[in-house]
Amino acid sequence: MTKRKLTQNQKRRIHSNNVKALDRHHRRVKKEIDWQEEMLGDTQDGVVVTRYSIHADVENSQGEIFRCNLRRTLANVVVGDHVVWRRGHEKLQGISGVIEAIKPRENEIARPDYYDGLKVMASNIDRIIIVSSVLPALSLNIIDRYLVICENANIPAVILLNKVDLLTDEQWREAEEQLEIYRKIGYETLMISAISGKNMEKLTALLADGTSIFVGQSGVGKSSLINYILPEVNAQTGEISETSGLGQHTTTSSRLYHLPQGGNLIDSPGIREFGLWHLEPAQITNGYREFQYFLGTCKFRDCKHIDDPGCALREAVELGKIHPVRFDNYHRLISSREENKSQRHFMEQDIR
Ligand code: GDP
Ligand code: ZN
Repeated sequence: MTKRKLTQNQKRRIHSNNVKALDRHHRRVKKEIDWQEEMLGDTQDGVVVTRYSIHADVENSQGEIFRCNLRRTLANVVVGDHVVWRRGHEKLQGISGVIEAIKPRENEIARPDYYDGLKVMASNIDRIIIVSSVLPALSLNIIDRYLVICENANIPAVILLNKVDLLTDEQWREAEEQLEIYRKIGYETLMISAISGKNMEKLTALLADGTSIFVGQSGVGKSSLINYILPEVNAQTGEISETSGLGQHTTTSSRLYHLPQGGNLIDSPGIREFGLWHLEPAQITNGYREFQYFLGTCKFRDCKHIDDPGCALREAVELGKIHPVRFDNYHRLISSREENKSQRHFMEQDIR
């Protein structure tokens, strides 16, 4: 153990300087184009379908894709962003144009970043598909963690239970009961199998509208489901890395795919699993939709909803209006958040 540890601020500063230096280096090495007014056509609308480290692929209304630079003044451009961009009269060093502005986002998903605080990963999402499975075992606590994020980001959630091909009839009924907790409070749920294809047509129908994103612990079957829905994903990924000629790792970039039956799918390794520690207790409380009706009617304003007298939430649990599992998970989330905060750990470590 060294005696003199760097403070968090020092670490951040060093990291930030490194990132800047690396950025300058990239721009020099790649001889980044200095797009001048006369080199560019009119502004037009587009959607960011892939984000790389210093470029982004923008799709125009005809479905054509153009690799673009980003104006330095721009905030973090993410997949799903609606942008204003300009096409160059000529393609320069494989780059077709430049993104000038990001249109206001309808919503965004951010994940905690050790150095930068919150980092936005994707935007303009219509639904989050929370994938759980029977192996690793169904964890309602983890589902609740994701639901809290969905509720706070104001994005509808669908809960999938994958690998149901492994269930006996008895286990199937038990799983149904657990999902029922969520159906009762208005979430759509689906028991599914990427292997047997059970209920896949229902998932496909669900995805046919708007932009969806899959999240869930590793091993629950997200890639298998995505490959089932979009067999070309792998092929496409390979093709892009070949033609880009920029040697970028497409596997780590976030991408938006168009599904054959309509609708879009955003796939980003960075958001498949994401954390909770940045949420304030009030946000965790807001993340439980069936609590909202009772909140504010506790006897004490600073009620912790534990064994405080006159707690309206506890009464609701006793009356069967709030499911005890959800109430327990709520307290577990609040207390695990306290631990995470002090250790500055992320949920990814925490849930494994
Ligand atoms: P990811 O980490 O969430 O992307 O999970 P993967 O798609 O890589 O799947 C993890 C493992 O679960 C793999 O061995 C898959 O073959 C397996 N798996 C995925 N879906 C199913 C399913 O529906 N049933 C069964 N029995 N296994 C599955
Ligand atoms: Zn209370």
